[in-house]
Amino acid sequence: MDCLFCKIVNQEIPANILYQDDKVLAFMDINPQAPFHALVIPRLHISTLNDMTDEHSELVGHMIKTAAHLAKEQGFAEDGYRTVFNCNPHGGQTVYHIHLHLLGGKPMGWPPYQETLKVPV
Ligand code: AMP
Ligand code: ZN
Repeated sequence: MDCLFCKIVNQEIPANILYQDDKVLAFMDINPQAPFHALVIPRLHISTLNDMTDEHSELVGHMIKTAAHLAKEQGFAEDGYRTVFNCNPHGGQTVYHIHLHLLGGKPMGWPPYQETLKVPV
């Protein structure tokens, strides 16, 4: 399967890995959107959050716990941080192997998108 994150799991392409165990991997995002920006992925290929089933609940819970653990390790758990799963085009997903973004080190804006201004004509 031609999947970028499976290639990282299989060590076919390099990544700046922060944490790994038998279920998940965490590595630095190549195009950081905050002072700290990492991705937590499962070793198992799941294309989108829409493909998640009950069997994956523990795995996805472990991804979230891994992100929280990293935030603590990086020292910004108390200040706070943002975790995001993007799903499909409207969610801004570009890599179709689920991943949890962990962003920290600065205050995040909310909402995370810019609505198109509808000016009456
Ligand atoms: P998304 O847009 O939610 O699918 O997020 C995909 C993320 O993967 C983006 O933030 C990219 O910067 C990141 N990314 C793409 N290729 C790599 C790579 N080789 N190593 C690390 N991060 C990557
Ligand atoms: Zn994959």
